[in-house]
Amino acid sequence: MELVIFLIAHSTLAVFFQTFFLHRYASHRMFTMSRRSERVFHFLTYLTQGSSYLVPWAYAILHRMHHAYSDTPKDPHSPRHSAGPASMMWRTKKLYDAICDGTADVEPRFLGGYPEWRTLDRIGNSWFSRISWGAGYAVVYVAFASHWWQFLFVPLHWTLGPLHGAIVNWCGHRYGYRNFDSDDDSRNTLALDFVTLGELFQNNHHKYSMSSNFAVRRFEIDPAYQVIRVFAWLGILQMPDKRQMARLGPGAARAEG
Ligand SMILES: [Zn+2]
Ligand SMILES: [Zn+2]
Repeated sequence: MELVIFLIAHSTLAVFFQTFFLHRYASHRMFTMSRRSERVFHFLTYLTQGSSYLVPWAYAILHRMHHAYSDTPKDPHSPRHSAGPASMMWRTKKLYDAICDGTADVEPRFLGGYPEWRTLDRIGNSWFSRISWGAGYAVVYVAFASHWWQFLFVPLHWTLGPLHGAIVNWCGHRYGYRNFDSDDDSRNTLALDFVTLGELFQNNHHKYSMSSNFAVRRFEIDPAYQVIRVFAWLGILQMPDKRQMARLGPGAARAEG
């Protein structure tokens, strides 16, 4: 039972910081926050993603490329141009590594406006850190496992980041319904997305890429946006004003009244 809670909690927290910090804040700047809050969330992203930590500035560049070239041959990850989710994520990983190493050819328009923390990013991106976290997850299983087969779930903890990426980028551009016609293949896979906390509203998000609410229609619920609203209410982050929100997307405008 402890291990089920550990797996669900780790997966949910890792995906929350992916969508909240890496995607909505670092890549799109859908809201703003103080330098201190930014550092706290940056650190929490490292803590929760552990062995599959993604460097926010590199993630932001990669993701901006995805929006600019959605489902064209220049898209870093598109099911239209990949044989399967694994080969798609391998190609994504190679580009991510090249961005981190400074060997990728990055257009200037994708640069800047993202959080940078050299020391933490260097540690988080190192094999020493990744393997240490991986060993840490295994120790939890040593402490709580009652059957050998439960250890089969340890690799899930190691690869949560790529796994979430594969789910969002493969399913979100392949399976589900569309609210908006577009040249890309983006789709809304689930109307209530508790698997990736709103990331699977790809069709809505590609249409209104600066709206912090990925839900658009009445029956759609974006869990991460509800948390963002609480953070805004607590003063932890600042949303654009009402008029700007209305311009950014119908979902955000509706939720703010
Ligand atoms: Zn997409
Ligand atoms: Zn995006």
